[in-house]
Amino acid sequence: MPIYQFFKRKWLLRQPFPDNRLKILESKVPVYRKLPQHYRETLKKRMVIFLDEKRFEGCGGLTITDQIKTVIAAYASVLILEETADYYSGLQSILVYPDDYMAPVYEEGEGGVITEGFEHRKGEYWGAGNIVLSWSDIEENLYESNDGQNLIYHEFSHLLDDRYGLTAGIDEEGKPLRDDEWTHIMAGSFRKLQRRAYERRKSALDLYGAQNPAELFSVATEAFFEKPDELHRENPDLYRMLNNFYRLDPLRWMG
Ligand SMILES: [Zn+2]
Repeated sequence: MPIYQFFKRKWLLRQPFPDNRLKILESKVPVYRKLPQHYRETLKKRMVIFLDEKRFEGCGGLTITDQIKTVIAAYASVLILEETADYYSGLQSILVYPDDYMAPVYEEGEGGVITEGFEHRKGEYWGAGNIVLSWSDIEENLYESNDGQNLIYHEFSHLLDDRYGLTAGIDEEGKPLRDDEWTHIMAGSFRKLQRRAYERRKSALDLYGAQNPAELFSVATEAFFEKPDELHRENPDLYRMLNNFYRLDPLRWMG
């Protein structure tokens, strides 16, 4: 970290947390009220740095408001309460669309014919310093804090996966390529979810996670923070792995 950044952070953390943001936290971020007091204080500290270092850009005609910034910063900061991962270093901009947005897709078909088209997306991680989010999809799940759907947890956990190579040791079929407990449990959970998706059975995890191991990790993160009891009941080993990774135990405050 450059020295000026070190001192800037120190200075920022000495400033009082802005009242308007605190009001938004209290009224628009349900998890804030559920967190134990000491985590609330840590969350505010993480947010102050996050908000200072990340750029927000409104797209598709959206004007970035304090509410949008506060809500996104709050949920992104929940994931890094105990392990800052240097505040998602590498992430520069958060692009926010008012609604689902259309993203160009290119598909190579038979004989190398390339079809171009568009598809609706709610959010994605571009891997090159950008995260894209749809505000209406964030808002939709904002007031139900325990339905296991949270676009912000989802996209930001992709960043952590990338940074730490959390699912790099599992191939697309769910075969572990490394021999450690984390990889075995993640791979086993992925194969289990694939079977459930195939049999169209419900799971504490969003079946979307059956797409590939990276999606498994992101839907598991959503379930871990939003419905830890259900995840813990269905797959205690996966819960334990996420508990070790995030160094947090949402079972203690969600409920
Ligand atoms: Zn995803």
